[in-house]
Amino acid sequence: MEILYSATKPTGKLTLGNYLGAIKNWKEMQNNYNSIFAVADLHALTINIDSKELNDNIYTQFATFIAAGLDPDKSIIYCQSHVKEHAELAWIMNCLTYFGEASRMTQFKDHKAKDKVVSVGLFAYPMLMAGDILLYNTQVVPVGVDQMQHVEICRDIALRFNSRYGETFVIPRGIIPKVGAKIMGLQNPLKKMAKSEDNDNNVIYIEDDDDTIRKKFKRAVTDSLNRIKYCDEQPGVSNLLTIYSSINKISITDAEKHFEGKNYGALKTEVAECVIREISPIRERLQELKNNKPKIEELMKKGAEKASKIARETLNKVYAKIGLVINR
Ligand code: AMP
Repeated sequence: MEILYSATKPTGKLTLGNYLGAIKNWKEMQNNYNSIFAVADLHALTINIDSKELNDNIYTQFATFIAAGLDPDKSIIYCQSHVKEHAELAWIMNCLTYFGEASRMTQFKDHKAKDKVVSVGLFAYPMLMAGDILLYNTQVVPVGVDQMQHVEICRDIALRFNSRYGETFVIPRGIIPKVGAKIMGLQNPLKKMAKSEDNDNNVIYIEDDDDTIRKKFKRAVTDSLNRIKYCDEQPGVSNLLTIYSSINKISITDAEKHFEGKNYGALKTEVAECVIREISPIRERLQELKNNKPKIEELMKKGAEKASKIARETLNKVYAKIGLVINR
């Protein structure tokens, strides 16, 4: 089986977008790949985040992975900061990357344009991510379209290393999973449903209770065309159809057929109910786990031990190739 690596940043509470766009797919992928899933806590430090909030997010995100069905016996599930090799390889990656190529990363340019003040850490984010992927001899990296450029730079750095020092890194490929549509905001369906969101009604969080989910869908933006069709003119309705088809594992066409002749009220209610059916068992397991922090920490430790073993081996190989002396 090929090796797969994926991660989420604990910069906020996980959303329905994270679940349908990433975690739900991971659950299925772990049967077909040797999978490694990380809570990318070092990546979260690239933005200014409150320490208590970060700490909560790390526990919650890790517990959500487990509650959603990622299996620690099948896959390696761990926190990035527990494996110190990430920080070490990131430095090597920094030294192999040209300032010009890192400056071309669109995500960094977008942040810089928006936030004005950005950290060196944010600039170095793609190099940390390249190290994450390369440490585990990863072959496949499932990502959203927005992250593809970071997988490309990872490939470029790995190829550069291999040509300078000899075959060392496996060259990974990014894949955009076919299932796992992009979920948009409920109030602003032209913008991705994101963890960092000021308007609570725009986002469904995994931890939202059933009534909150119902209320948020009731308030979801539709339009006045009075037809249930997936098209550019109806981004709100299209988003609801996407959620429905993604949860029920049916095509958009079949979802449209299902709602033929029904009104927007029925659409919103049915979508809300299917989201509740999918998410509430996860939320319950999550609450149970969150009340048992020692259990979460035990699982974190187990994951980090497995991850560290592979990571150390790769890093020793890298250090030897570049001429550093390994301290055994
Ligand atoms: P992030 O929230 O940026 O840390 O992303 C973690 C993972 O969730 C990535 O694989 C994203 O592509 C995915 N993701 C985040 N938001 C959405 C969304 N609204 N729709 C689909 N996938 C998403």
